[in-house]
Amino acid sequence: MQKIQIVFIAFIFSTLFSCLKEGKTYEMQTPDTRFLIKSESLTAFYEMGASSVSIYASEEDKKMQTPECVVYYKEIEDVLNYIQNISFEEYLEFYKKKGTQSFYDMQLSENLNITPNNEKIRIAIDAGHIASNFEEALMEERFMKIIGGKFQFYEARNTWAVAAFLFEILENEGFEVMLTREKAGYTAFGKTYKEWLTNDFQLSLEQSLHSGKITEKTYQDLLYNSDAKTVFNRYFRNLEMEERARKINEFQPNITLIIHFNVSPKPQTNSNQEYYASNENFNMTFVPGSFTAGELDSISERAKFLRLLLSGDIKNSVELSSLIIRYLSNSLKVSAVSETLNVSYLQDYCIYTNQKGVFARNLALNRMIYGTQSYVELFCQDNFAEAELLSQENEEVMGEKVPLRTKEAAEAIAAAIKHYIELQNK
Ligand SMILES: [Zn+2]
Repeated sequence: MQKIQIVFIAFIFSTLFSCLKEGKTYEMQTPDTRFLIKSESLTAFYEMGASSVSIYASEEDKKMQTPECVVYYKEIEDVLNYIQNISFEEYLEFYKKKGTQSFYDMQLSENLNITPNNEKIRIAIDAGHIASNFEEALMEERFMKIIGGKFQFYEARNTWAVAAFLFEILENEGFEVMLTREKAGYTAFGKTYKEWLTNDFQLSLEQSLHSGKITEKTYQDLLYNSDAKTVFNRYFRNLEMEERARKINEFQPNITLIIHFNVSPKPQTNSNQEYYASNENFNMTFVPGSFTAGELDSISERAKFLRLLLSGDIKNSVELSSLIIRYLSNSLKVSAVSETLNVSYLQDYCIYTNQKGVFARNLALNRMIYGTQSYVELFCQDNFAEAELLSQENEEVMGEKVPLRTKEAAEAIAAAIKHYIELQNK
C-alpha cells in the first residue's frame, strides 16, 4: 500500500534521492513537463534550477528572478507528504507563506508527522452530473433521446450506476471506496438539487456573499430573479464541483475515478434537444495537465500547477487511464478515440499522452484533486445501438433499476484498477 504513495514521488526523483543517500552531490532529474504545458508562453511562470523549482507570478518576475514560491529538491518528499494531508485552502496558505525559505524553517501549524490511513487502498468515485429525473436532466442539458428511437435516458443516472457498481465490486475486493454522490439522484451535498434549492440555497448564498465569493448584485439576482436552471448554471454547478473536490481530498484517496458519458464529435440535435443518431462510438480518458495560455494567471492555479509539477500524479494517471481504455476496448468492443479526431476540446486543449485514448486536460475537477486519477468519458450516447443499451433497465444496483451496460463498463474499469494496483505493488 505504501508503495503506491511512494512510487509517484520516486519516479522523478529516484536518481536524486539515491545520490543523496550515498552522500554525493546530487543531480536533478528534470521533472517531466511534456503533458503539463500546452502553451509555450507558460514557461514564463516556472523554472527548474540546479537545486530547486521556482514558480513566478509573471514573466516580469522571472526576468527579475523574484519567485513567488520555491521548493528545493531535497525537501520535495517532505513537502509532498505535508501538502497531501491538508485541505486546498491550507495548501494555498502554505504556498503563499513559503516563498524562498526552507520548508524546515517554516512555522507550520499542522502536525508534520500526520500519517495517512494506510491500512487499505482508498478509491474515490465521482459520478458526473446531478439530475434525479428527466426534468432536471433537461435542465442540466444531459438528457438523451434519439430521434426515431423509442428510448430515452439521462447521463447522471448512468454515471451513478457505473459508480455504484464500482463501489460494490471494489469494496468486495477489500478496498475502501467512497462515492461523491451516494444515492441515485443525489448531488454531492447528499440530497437532490430540488431539496438543496428548498432547504440550503438561501443560506449558501448568504455565506457566499459574506465570504466575497459573489457580489451583492449577483446575490439579489440569484435570490429573487432566477429560476432553477439559472441558479444551477450561475451558482450551483461550481459550488457542487467544489464540494466534490472537497469530499475527494478529505478522503485522501490513492486513486480517483471520475465517470462521464460522451457524445459524438459533432452531435446534431433538434429544437427539443433530441439527437440525430450517430455512427461513432469510442472511449476516452483525461488526466491532469495541459495548462493553456492564461491558466496560470491566478495564484491558486499556480499553486495547483506546482503540486502537479512536484508529484508523479500525471505519470501514474496515464498508466491507470491507459489500462482502463485497454480493458474497455477488450471487454466491451468499443475502441479508444482517435488522437487525430477533429474536435476543438482534443486539439486545442489536450495533449495526447502517446497512450491510446489518454489525454492530458486541465479540467476543473482534475486540478482540484490530487493523487492518481482518471476522468473516464464512456461511449457516444448518441450512437443508436449504444443508446438503446444505455436506456434499458435490465440490471439492479443498490435497489435501483439500471442498464446492464453500466455494469459491464464498471467491471472493465474495476479490472483495470486491480491490474494497475498489481503493477504498482510489484
Ligand atoms: Zn458528462
